[in-house]
Amino acid sequence: MTAHTRIKWSFSGLKDFVNCPRQYHEVKILNNFAKKSTQHMVYGTDVHQALENYVKQGITLPKNYQHFKAMVDPLVDMAGDKYAEHKMALTEDKIPCSFDSTDYWVRGIVDLLVIDGDTAYIVDYKTGSNKYPDPKQLKLMALMTFSHFPEVEYIKAGLLFVVHYSFLSEEYKRDDVGKLWGAFTPDLMRMKQAIDTGHWAVKQGPLCGWCPVDTCDFYRPRR
Ligand code: SF4
Repeated sequence: MTAHTRIKWSFSGLKDFVNCPRQYHEVKILNNFAKKSTQHMVYGTDVHQALENYVKQGITLPKNYQHFKAMVDPLVDMAGDKYAEHKMALTEDKIPCSFDSTDYWVRGIVDLLVIDGDTAYIVDYKTGSNKYPDPKQLKLMALMTFSHFPEVEYIKAGLLFVVHYSFLSEEYKRDDVGKLWGAFTPDLMRMKQAIDTGHWAVKQGPLCGWCPVDTCDFYRPRR
């Protein structure tokens, strides 16, 4: 990546950068290493696929996921246009573009988006712990929704912890857009600085145990 390379990011990519810039650089930019799928990641992908099939096409949930029905059915029954696994992207000028556009700056996928007049509902399914919920992802999805759906003035968004039967919700209005972008500015500035200087800081932490970068001094082989 040269000093003139533009940032392209997603919520998870930015989070990976914040967790450890060195790992982000090695995995996401240089493609020197690939992150190994954990059992939990495989389970999460499977649940997301099953819920997408159920919401989008009415395909019956597999037997072992039937207990999610009670949480998802109220969403399926909501009024409005429903978009499951809806892909959105923006250019650096925060203009909507196609997900695969070469000009995209940020992009993301909403698990379930419902547009009902001037109000949108955003739901993100979580299969992990609800102990330390991070609603920042909802902010980014809300920002993209405001850009892609100009008729939307209000957004109700929530993290649905399907395994724990809990829901963390936030509400936004179009006037919040500037403040919401502000939540990402410091991390994006740090990413830009790393790109411009070529310095990708090493950030040792608990995640080193799951890191594939075996050339790092802090690499710990998984047992
Ligand atoms: S082992 Fe730890 S410090 Fe080293 S790159 Fe991986 S996450 Fe970063």
